[in-house]
Amino acid sequence: MSKIIVAKFGGSSLADASQIRKAAEIIKSNPERRYIVVSAPGKRSVDDIKITDMLYTLHKKFMSHEDFSETLANIRERYAEIVRELNIDFDVSSEIHEIAENLSDSPDYPASRGEYINAKIIAKFLGFPFVDAKDGIFFNENGTLNESETFYTFGEILKGCEYAVIPGFYGTGHDGRIKTFSRGGSDVTGSIAARSVNADLYENWTDVSGMLSADPRIVKAPRVIDCITYTELRELSYMGASVLHEDAVFPVRKAGIPINIRNTNRPGDNGTYISADISAGVKRSAVTGIAGRKGFCSIRVEKSMMNGETGFGAKLLYIFAKNNVPFEHCPTGIDTISVVVNYQTFEAHRESILREIKNTLDPDYITIEKNLACIAVVGQGMAGVRGMAARVFTALSGAGVNVRMIDQGSDELNIIVGVDESDYETSINALYNNMIIQH
Ligand code: ASP
Repeated sequence: MSKIIVAKFGGSSLADASQIRKAAEIIKSNPERRYIVVSAPGKRSVDDIKITDMLYTLHKKFMSHEDFSETLANIRERYAEIVRELNIDFDVSSEIHEIAENLSDSPDYPASRGEYINAKIIAKFLGFPFVDAKDGIFFNENGTLNESETFYTFGEILKGCEYAVIPGFYGTGHDGRIKTFSRGGSDVTGSIAARSVNADLYENWTDVSGMLSADPRIVKAPRVIDCITYTELRELSYMGASVLHEDAVFPVRKAGIPINIRNTNRPGDNGTYISADISAGVKRSAVTGIAGRKGFCSIRVEKSMMNGETGFGAKLLYIFAKNNVPFEHCPTGIDTISVVVNYQTFEAHRESILREIKNTLDPDYITIEKNLACIAVVGQGMAGVRGMAARVFTALSGAGVNVRMIDQGSDELNIIVGVDESDYETSINALYNNMIIQH
């Protein structure tokens, strides 16, 4: 039996007719690419405007009773140009007219039309049937995905079509109206489609040749990660590396379906392969990637004989939880505990947290250290390898960086260091050069 590939193309991959032709060539080059999920046309150049943003503007103007005819005309023209250049017979005007007729208080309906119209155009160009996401993707009352209904219904609809083009970004809300995911949500639609048809692979076509092993704004031309596990991806994404919508991983991960990030403009590149395990025999370095974020602070609580006081840590963390301040890390010493949190979130609750710590725990000292950046060195290959931490600290000390916090999970998947925000860029470069380039 032939494989099933769900291929999702992002906004920059479909920004105009020439990009759509590139995507079509990729689709047609492998008949296993059966279910195509599309974004709305994105930016054609840095100062261009995405169709989705234009649609949100349209809705804003409608709500404030402003004249929106120019915005509507601009949207119509973007699609009309695509249709003209693809040389297909498609009535853009009646689609645009329908949007204007159905505007209401919800921005979700107009926002979703970017992918809806694009999917119809691309379906026509490819000669594939169009399947509307509203018929297969359903949300619960609390806004989360209704997984059982979605996977079953969407699966049944798609199994009835050998090929299909599906608009990304939306489904049907609990009230029966169109509801969108958060921005960038076509990635989620692709993942849901892959899960619903139990695909062999979920391809995510974008404008980069995969996930980078460090932030390209800090490290010059960082290496592309060839393969990465879902767990590593989660760690790196949480620490700021972004390549996929966060919610796009869960549906396929549960079913063990791998994701392949590919570049529409360089289809010959292998991209990044994301899966549950890296197959035996694949050579990779111990460290997969480095990511980090600024904006943390550490609240250090010191009390002599704390070590003998059962429940001290639990009480301390409960104070943060009660104030709705999630903690990131919690390194401990014999008589100290530090709680690392987002500085802005902490500031909003500072008074009550400090008061409660004093009243409940009666500490000797409380010290607040600001301007902390956290950096994660992530790699499943680090587990059981001697000297990894030594290399991290040697790299940092070699660059003249003082390490202010250290945290390593017992799974040895990552080593997290806290450094002064002013040392952040230097640290990322030093770690990249020592842990990824020279492995
Ligand atoms: N078009 C939507 C956005 O710009 C969704 C997507 O492209 O994934 O956020």
